[in-house]
Amino acid sequence: MDCIFCEIASKDAEAEVIFENENFVAFLDINPVNYGHTLVVPKKHFDNFLTIPTDDLSELTKITQYLAGAVKRALKADGFNIISNNGNSAGQSVFHFHYHIIPRYENDFHMRPRTIEYKQSEIELYRDKIKESVSKYEGLLNG
Ligand code: AMP
Ligand code: ZN
Repeated sequence: MDCIFCEIASKDAEAEVIFENENFVAFLDINPVNYGHTLVVPKKHFDNFLTIPTDDLSELTKITQYLAGAVKRALKADGFNIISNNGNSAGQSVFHFHYHIIPRYENDFHMRPRTIEYKQSEIELYRDKIKESVSKYEGLLNG
C-alpha cells in the first residue's frame, strides 16, 4: 500500500521525529498550521477514527495527551488543538489515522470557519435521527 505514514513508521521515508516507541511515532507536520504542529501516528495502518481498534486508540490518546503537554511547555503555547480529520469532506488527506497537536497563541487565527442556526424543529429532528442511530449501534459500545 502506498501510504506516507506507513513509510515514515518503517523508516522508508524521513520525518522530524519528536517521539517514538514500539507502536507509535510522532513527528512534525511538513505543512504546519503553527510552528511545532505535530502528528501522532500508530505504526500500524488504520484508515480512520472508526477503524482503529479501541485499545490502540486509547494508547494513542494517552501518548497524545503526554505529547500535547510537552509541546505546550516547550513552545510556551497558550493552548493547543487536538484534531482528527476523517474523510475527504472533513479535510483528511492522509488516510492513515492520526491526531494533530496544534500549538495555539492568543489571537493567532480562528479555527472555527462558520456556524449555522437550527430552528427548534430542526434541532429536535437531528437529535432524534442521531439518537436512533445511537440505539441501533449500541452493541458496538457494549460488546
Ligand atoms: P490530514 O489532512 O488530517 O489527513 O493530515 C495529514 C497531514 O500530514 C497534513 O497536515 C500534511 O501536511 C501532513 N503530511 C503529509 N505528508 C507528510 C510528511 N511526509 N511528513 C510530515 N507531514 C506530512
Ligand atoms: Zn499507513
